[in-house]
Amino acid sequence: MSKKLFTPGPGNIPQFIRVQLAKDIIHHRMGDYQHVLFEVANKLRRVFQTVEDVLILTTSGTGAMESAIVNFFSKGDEVLVINTGFFGERFIQICKTFALTVHSLDYEWGSTYQLDDVKRVLTEHPNIKGVFVTYHETSTGVVNNLKDLGEFVRHTNALLIADCISGMIHHPFNFDEWHVDCALASSQKGFLLPPGLAFVALSKKAKERMEYATLPKYFWDYSKYLSYYKRGQNPYTPSISLVLALNVALDYLLEKGIDKVIEEKRKLREYSEAKLTEIGFTSFIKDESIKGNVLVPVLTNDVDIDKLVEFLDNRYDISVSKGQGKYADKMLRVGLLSEFTEEDIDNLVEKILEYKAINETE
Ligand SMILES: *Cc1c(COP(=O)(O)O)cnc(C)c1O
Repeated sequence: MSKKLFTPGPGNIPQFIRVQLAKDIIHHRMGDYQHVLFEVANKLRRVFQTVEDVLILTTSGTGAMESAIVNFFSKGDEVLVINTGFFGERFIQICKTFALTVHSLDYEWGSTYQLDDVKRVLTEHPNIKGVFVTYHETSTGVVNNLKDLGEFVRHTNALLIADCISGMIHHPFNFDEWHVDCALASSQKGFLLPPGLAFVALSKKAKERMEYATLPKYFWDYSKYLSYYKRGQNPYTPSISLVLALNVALDYLLEKGIDKVIEEKRKLREYSEAKLTEIGFTSFIKDESIKGNVLVPVLTNDVDIDKLVEFLDNRYDISVSKGQGKYADKMLRVGLLSEFTEEDIDNLVEKILEYKAINETE
């Protein structure tokens, strides 16, 4: 069975990566693995645009989010969450789970944050030790500006922790120049891989802060990953197959050029959005400048989203996603993480029209 995944992650995995995934593994304490890990580490530095370390954890994106919280903070620490959607809310929940004191700036879904609000909260609460933000908010398709945020937060006592899980690869990113302290990503979003690996970039400020964090951790303890990394190893058995496939995926993305990958995706998003609005959907995000490249969120008031999702999946092996949270019934989210062409979009639109025609005659 093969499905076209127009979902916001995972996407379809290209054939050449599936071939790599089918190969036998090597042992993670031997020289061959060490060699691969050093290579992968350098390629990840190029993707994140940093001279710092980018750790590899065996987990999904949410595991990486939790790991950032336990490595930098202690019970009761004050933090600020910039909440622009479902994944901003997840940061609030994890912080509360670990008994941090959470300040949040909650914005309407479909909009971005205001820097003045962040400045105000950090001025009123100078003890805030961390600012959490979602780069590309997958529940709304909004991209939050990290550069301006980094430029402000670097002069404060706080670390800037960015969930770049669906934002990485398909949107410009510069860890060092933007002064991000901790950036999180995961294999199944932009990296053309199955789920299972997460990536964590750490600034010097972040590494220093780790020493004062007293929240309990064992598996997530970054200091162990950092010391093993120097020797080309992971502290615990890594997902060897995925690390080997990551090496192949990064070669492909870097050879093609991240700029080109971004540009292609932006064009495909514009094309898809135009096609979907042509057939009666309305764009969810009004402000053109904050639209991300890997997701087309559109609204409808005459299509039953649950039934449409089921129809496409059952009849045509096409998977699309409905909205999250309060938009569960009104929003269709067409994910573009897979390497789709305009013909794939035309085909999707044709099948949606077919669904509409059947339901109008009923
Ligand atoms: C997918 C996603 C996550 C969660 O990742 P899992 O791998 O499902 O744990 C977190 N944040 C964002 C922005 C995402 O898109």
